[in-house]
Amino acid sequence: MCNTCGCNVTAGNSHLVLEGGKLSKTKDGTQSIEVLQSLLHENNHIAEHNRSHFNAHNVLAINLMSSPGSGKTALLEATIDALGDKYKIAVIEGDLETENDAVRIRAKGVPAVQITTGQACHLDAHMVHDALHLLDLDALDIVFIENVGNLVCPASFDLGHHANITLLSVTEGDDKPAKYPIIFRAADLVLITKSDLLAYLDDFLPSKAKQYVRNLANPAEILTLSARQPESLKGWFAWLEKTITANQAGTDLRPAIQPDGLSIHAAQ
Ligand code: MG
Repeated sequence: MCNTCGCNVTAGNSHLVLEGGKLSKTKDGTQSIEVLQSLLHENNHIAEHNRSHFNAHNVLAINLMSSPGSGKTALLEATIDALGDKYKIAVIEGDLETENDAVRIRAKGVPAVQITTGQACHLDAHMVHDALHLLDLDALDIVFIENVGNLVCPASFDLGHHANITLLSVTEGDDKPAKYPIIFRAADLVLITKSDLLAYLDDFLPSKAKQYVRNLANPAEILTLSARQPESLKGWFAWLEKTITANQAGTDLRPAIQPDGLSIHAAQ
């Protein structure tokens, strides 16, 4: 877990713990427990700052989390195809290496900022803050933040977004919510993706995956869809439009469960 192993020290926030930094205790910044708690505190502070930026510009910010290869970028491409004329969309892409996903999004005519995290297995609020300075928020309705593909660490960091979406592709097995409870408990919406492959699989039951999410006491909406089947995306678009409307009406949206897993806020 990022809260304990130290991998939450990233290129974006390492200046805080290195010599001369605000939270510096040692020259190389390696002193552990107290520093890490302070870093999360600092992360949450920047996250609130990011959320204020989004709110000031009436922009909805959505954090997409999942394992690698679950179809986050494909879902964004299909969403841009369907809603790109109606809403002004931008994407912040998080990957350890390459601009591949940002290139795919830009090919749709939508601005995309690629954050390459190096060894860090998640995005943090500092990275997103830096990316925001490269986007014209006044010209946008939605910013999707495609987090690094990882079912563990991304759930521990508030980025300043309004809602968490956790994707689960049918090729991963329907028991992932039981095995990775934190990221599925944090979801404001769960999307079971690549449903076009269900016909070829005998080991994934959407009803079983849903039950595992309910076992986590998460009442979030759960939708089954495929980016390759536009008809299956109607429920997702309806959720997105409902959430955009609430945001533009001034509703104080934020993830239902904060990264510490304890602070429960009103669900959308
Ligand atoms: Mg991707």
